[in-house]
Order: sequence, then C-alpha cells, then structure tokens
Amino acid sequence: MALEILKIVNLNKSFGRVKAASDINLTLQEGVLTSIIGPNGAGKSTLINMLSGSLPADTGRVFFYETDITRLPVHQRVQLGLCRSFQLVNIFPEMTVLDNLLLPTLAVNKRTRRLFRALRNETGAHREVAQILDRIGLKEEADTVASALSHGDQRVLEVGVALAAKPRLLFLDEPTAGMNPVERVRILENIRRLSEKKETTFVIVEHDMDIVFSLSDRVIVLHHGEVIADGTTEEVKNDPKVREVYLGQEVAV
Ligand code: ADP
Ligand code: MG
Repeated sequence: MALEILKIVNLNKSFGRVKAASDINLTLQEGVLTSIIGPNGAGKSTLINMLSGSLPADTGRVFFYETDITRLPVHQRVQLGLCRSFQLVNIFPEMTVLDNLLLPTLAVNKRTRRLFRALRNETGAHREVAQILDRIGLKEEADTVASALSHGDQRVLEVGVALAAKPRLLFLDEPTAGMNPVERVRILENIRRLSEKKETTFVIVEHDMDIVFSLSDRVIVLHHGEVIADGTTEEVKNDPKVREVYLGQEVAV
C-alpha cells in the first residue's frame, strides 16, 4: 500500500454565495499520478490554490504526510516539498536553458547547506541539472536562450524548473496549455516517466479528457465545488454523473 502524501479533510471555500469547495475529503498516495478535472468553474483552481497555500480555506484541514499544513504559507510548503507550477510561464527568457535550471538547483542546495560545495566546483549542481535536462528531454537545448525555445519547450522547461526544487508533491496546472500535438505527447510521456521514478508525485489539473485518460492512474472529478467521481480512468469514464456533467463533450470509452 502506497504511503499517504496528502490528506484533505472537510475543506470548504466560498466566494460570496458561490461554494467553490464543498466538504472536500481526499487522500492522495505517493507515486500515484492523479488528475483533477471538471468543467469551467468547478473549483479546480480554488482547490490547487488552497493546497499550495496561496488561498486560505474557510474551514477544513490539509496534512502533508503527518504535518498539518493548513495554515502554512506558500514558502514553508515549498520547503517541505509541496510545489506547484503556474499556468504563467515563469522562466527567465534571457537566460539559457542550463542557467534557468542551475538557478533553482543552487537555491535548493543552499537550503540544504550544500551551496559552498556546489559553488566551489559546481560539479554537484551541474550533475543535477544534466539529469533534469535528460529527464525533460531538453539536453540538446542546454545552451539555447529560453526565449528562443518553442512555446511548448518553454512549458517543458517550466516543469524542469519546478523539478529542480526537488518537490515530493508537484501540482501542474494545465501543463499542455498552448502546446501543439507533438509537444503534448512529449511532455506527457515525460511526466509519465518522471512519475514512474517515484521521486515526485504529480497532480495535474487538465481539461483535455484524452490526455487525462491516457496519462492518469487516478482521476478526481469536481463539479460545483464537490467531488462527484474519484477512481481509475475506467471507473471515471463510465460514471453516469461524469457523463452527465460532460454531456455533449467527448468522454471517449
Ligand atoms: P475552475 O478552476 O475549475 O475553473 P475556479 O476554482 O476558478 O474553477 O472557480 C470556482 C468558482 O469560484 C467559480 O464559480 C468562480 O467564479 C468562483 N471564484 C473563484 N475565484 C474567485 C474569486 N477570487 N472571487 C470570487 N469568485 C471566485
Ligand atoms: Mg481554473
């Protein structure tokens, strides 16, 4: 049985009369690639914002492993290993791919008091960056200035930047947004492969059903702030409530 990485207990959030999160109870397991889906306004972003710490919950609790993180600010969650990548591109366009990855790697090594060793010969940091480049498939682009990358590769680099912080749990917000089909397949295969290494647990917010069903171990469906379905792709695909919510949209079986 996989270890519990995140436990969400009775989480609620309202915006005026809108219930954006309604008594959400979920337990996420280490190494299980989980997708969160739902129509526009379902409460996906609200949930991710509460879990990553940028939005306070009205009521409820969140535990990361055994630690109650309900009231922790974002940076303390990041220090514990709970990170998110934003929908906005957050790389430095004037810097090379390598330097974009080196920066967070050095920062995280500093945090673990290895900065001086890393700076002295930088071998450790460079080795780590080489590994990330390899994992995200951007080895050939190491010396390319980030702004010269295709949009899709910039999104891939973003995932790399997030990985450099060595997260144990990483939320990816629509990682394929704005990508062409070839880039989509590549980043998805990368995420799948990274997930199988079990060093980082991935939770993906995604609206493309084909992507979700081809990628995920587990799918959680939100609607009006409530969890209406939760299970394997097969279970969720065949769930009558899910079919109703997505009526008129493709739920390919
Ligand atoms: P999703 O990401 O699934 O599209 P959201 O979490 O963004 O959904 O929104 C859920 C509901 O909460 C929607 O009805 C939305 O209009 C409302 N909402 C989200 N953020 C705010 C906010 N800051 N102020 C007011 N209403 C909000
Ligand atoms: Mg959203």
